[in-house]
Amino acid sequence: MSSHPINEPILDYEAGSEHKSNLKKELNKQLNEVLEIPCIVNGKKVYTNNTVIQVVPHNHKHTLANVHLAGKKEIEEACKSAIKAQTDWINMGMENRAQIFERCADLLANKWRMRINAATMLNQSKTVFQAEVDAACELIDFWRFNAHYAREFHEQLQPLVSPEGTINTTEIRPLEGFVLAITPFNFTSIAANLPSAPALVGCTAIWKPSRNSYYSNYLLMQLMMEAGLPDGVINFLPGSGSEITETALANPDFAGIHFTGSTSVFQGIWQRIAKALPSLKGYPRIVGETGGKDFVVAHPDCDQKGLTVALLRGAFEYQGQKCSAASRAYIPTSVWNGIEEKIILETNKIKMGDCNDFTNFMTSVIDERAFNKITGYIERAKNDSKCNIIVGGGSDNSKGWFIEPTIIVTTNPKSETMVEEIFGPVLTVYVYQDDYFEDILDMCDKASPYALTGSIFSSNEENIQKAYNKLRFTAGNFYINDKPTGAVVAQQPFGGARASGTNDKAGGPLNLLRWISPRSVKRNNLKIHDWTYPFMDES
Ligand code: NAD
Repeated sequence: MSSHPINEPILDYEAGSEHKSNLKKELNKQLNEVLEIPCIVNGKKVYTNNTVIQVVPHNHKHTLANVHLAGKKEIEEACKSAIKAQTDWINMGMENRAQIFERCADLLANKWRMRINAATMLNQSKTVFQAEVDAACELIDFWRFNAHYAREFHEQLQPLVSPEGTINTTEIRPLEGFVLAITPFNFTSIAANLPSAPALVGCTAIWKPSRNSYYSNYLLMQLMMEAGLPDGVINFLPGSGSEITETALANPDFAGIHFTGSTSVFQGIWQRIAKALPSLKGYPRIVGETGGKDFVVAHPDCDQKGLTVALLRGAFEYQGQKCSAASRAYIPTSVWNGIEEKIILETNKIKMGDCNDFTNFMTSVIDERAFNKITGYIERAKNDSKCNIIVGGGSDNSKGWFIEPTIIVTTNPKSETMVEEIFGPVLTVYVYQDDYFEDILDMCDKASPYALTGSIFSSNEENIQKAYNKLRFTAGNFYINDKPTGAVVAQQPFGGARASGTNDKAGGPLNLLRWISPRSVKRNNLKIHDWTYPFMDES
């Protein structure tokens, strides 16, 4: 076994540091230009002149880029070029492909780091820390660890037995055809990983980025080309998800979908794939990581200070726009009496504003649609007699789409903010009687259709084990005495089941295995010249 990579160290951007001053310069530079973003089809820039603008969410009058959207012609061309590029891409061999993505990681760790971080801060309104852990560290880790895992399973998947005179091998073929990668706005790292993970093992891809992250995603497309990604291997298509899916599915060489986004969109795509099945060459692989309603359950014996920090960070970092964000908490009365005042005090201390001001802990939510959806939940809670907003509840969309960190206490464990994904800075707390811990575990398990992440807080091993067993299928990523966010590649491979996805664990070998279709090869070196068997001899 080869030695494995290490996780990319997180830069601090402390006052007076070179990193901080370089990043500030880059932010200014990007704020002073308007980029023209084309489609990239077969390695060529295509300007369609059917454009939309890309704005800064915390300052939505500021335009970052004009984006040229793909139409049917570009989508069809992209499918063709992906199909055409596959033979050479396979022939290049796994090692050469792995080296291209390792070069991508090195470029991102060094030359491109500030550019991609600044772009993610401006395009998706992330604080410097949130951009650094996502767009730099997580993506560097995806590229390095995926290359490592692919090398390892190429060895591990070889047959165990080759009897004398025979050589058995397994060719790690990719899927035949192209993979459609439809990517979310909230993690720059996930966006680039979805087309590049299948590409690493020999697939080619169409990349449909989210309309809210065209800018940072386009820069990553350029980075991959600079690292030597051959033309046509990944084709970058800003545009309508529905139209791109329709055109891709009309092509018999559609081999799979790598999706991250909301549950309803993924379910719709799955149904469309099922309908298209008779006209496709093969059975496509369907991989989707979707929504969450992530929980924190506290036991009366828990560390109350640790719980408070986990709730604040888990619920409000990146404005709660993480699929793993803590958005429902079940807290026993004795613990709630101990932390309520403190959590209100600390929430009121959270500074919110422009990502350029590094003292801010939060910025704005992503767009008008998200703003309206999240404030809708808050307004309905204000009018619900079973809900009480104990802190936050305000919002302001005049300059950017800002929503205050909000905590709702409810007496109804099935209130909509306890069970539906909000995807914003809203935490709902249900306070339970101290001796109902086991009932609460059952309630947590059944309350919501999602099963992505969750945490248990307790200082007692027996109680932890009870939660561990009862919540087995309630979360694909389970945390003990920690917040339910912040999974790290190669440490906690990420994904959930039930309505949260196919649980194919991005950032681990299980995901890469979905993009291969092995060929078993038996080579016979014996000269077999007699067709009869010994049992046929009666003498
Ligand atoms: P979204 O579902 O709105 O969009 C995701 C992608 O799907 C975008 O590229 C979008 O353009 C595309 N799309 C939208 N409608 C489509 C259609 N009809 N056909 C084809 N494509 C279509 O999600 P989002 O707002 O970008 O991201 C937030 C969601 O993603 C949340 O639900 C969050 O929980 C989830 N998410 C999950 C994970 C995970 O690992 N489980 C990670 C990140 C985000």
